[in-house]
Amino acid sequence: MAVYKEIESAVIHAGIYGDKYTRAVNVPIYQTSTFEQTGIQENPQWEYARSGNPTRATLEALISDLEKGYKGFAFASGMAAIAAVLTLFKSGDTILVSNNVYGGTFRILDKVFKNFDLNYVLVDTSSVDNIKENITDKVKAVYIETPTNPLMNITDIKAVSELAKSYGLLTIVDNTFMTPYLQRPIELGADIVVHSATKYLGGHSDLVAGLAVVNTKELADRMYFIQNSVGAVLGPFDSFLLIRGIKTLAVRLDRHASNALKIAEYLENHKAVTKVYYPGLKSFDGYELNSRQARNGGGMISFLLSDNYDYRKFFKSLNLIALAESLGGVESLVCHPATMTHASIPADIRAKIGIHDNLIRLSVGIENVDDLLLDIDNAIKASAK
Ligand code: PLP
Repeated sequence: MAVYKEIESAVIHAGIYGDKYTRAVNVPIYQTSTFEQTGIQENPQWEYARSGNPTRATLEALISDLEKGYKGFAFASGMAAIAAVLTLFKSGDTILVSNNVYGGTFRILDKVFKNFDLNYVLVDTSSVDNIKENITDKVKAVYIETPTNPLMNITDIKAVSELAKSYGLLTIVDNTFMTPYLQRPIELGADIVVHSATKYLGGHSDLVAGLAVVNTKELADRMYFIQNSVGAVLGPFDSFLLIRGIKTLAVRLDRHASNALKIAEYLENHKAVTKVYYPGLKSFDGYELNSRQARNGGGMISFLLSDNYDYRKFFKSLNLIALAESLGGVESLVCHPATMTHASIPADIRAKIGIHDNLIRLSVGIENVDDLLLDIDNAIKASAK
């Protein structure tokens, strides 16, 4: 057993380290669908790869250790992880949801789970009073993202978890933007953490995966039953890629965050930009709260381009930063939330929550920050009306 204290070591050594059969330093890709049994009803550790696979089990132990939870679960995508968590509830239940959650989370609630009478209420969870006002007998959980995507609203995880607990509700946190290196919701009182591991945990834009971590045996047993019954598990090769990605999480995120802060400061002082949403900026509304519950502001920035600039031209004029869905990879990406990530949210709700057409979201990569600043500067100049 490796001995260490800090998360920079945990990302490399936590969970199941190495392979007990061969002493290989990395857990191999156990590319098998089934496992030979020694005899009938002799309780084999491994029997069928939907129920369990050693490579996936390594990843599940790793994410559970990093999030300080009871047990982790790996899924074929972030949405599959979220769907599994929502399957914990029953028809007739209601979930209070942050009002600018990822569009796919809104869509699955609105277009899939609503058909089964699992209901949701959108709430501005940055105020605990708003949550309290919406609690009824039917409400069973509060589902939050902090920072939210793309407006970076910050929710007080500790306060929400305390309130939820006092009403017997579960607190679920989508920790995709922050990762356990920057923020650990279970330590702050949350019950369940979900991830699109496609993003920072994978880190290289080369896989789609989802993770969920729960904080009790009771929730773990129920989640395991759902994972095995529904079956949207992560395959062994992608589990291996994700373990490999997580090993460099700390060094990558240090660079993502330091690049992001420099770019946010540059944008804040630019006449073409009317507002910058970055939780690491001292001038940002949620700065104090984010600093209390997270290590830094992370690697995501959104900003509003002034009406004197053509946002379509801005996207066309970038030469290093790629226009693409997704985030959290080593390469910088830019996206237009109104027509991309949040297109599934009706225009009136988008306008109400502030996802305007001139809103631009940047996933700041780990390139040289001067190259990134030059690319942004050139694109802003080219987009002047
Ligand atoms: N949660 C957040 C915050 C996301 O940004 C995403 C995807 O962009 C998801 C969940 C869904 O994850 P996936 O695309 O891996 O299914």
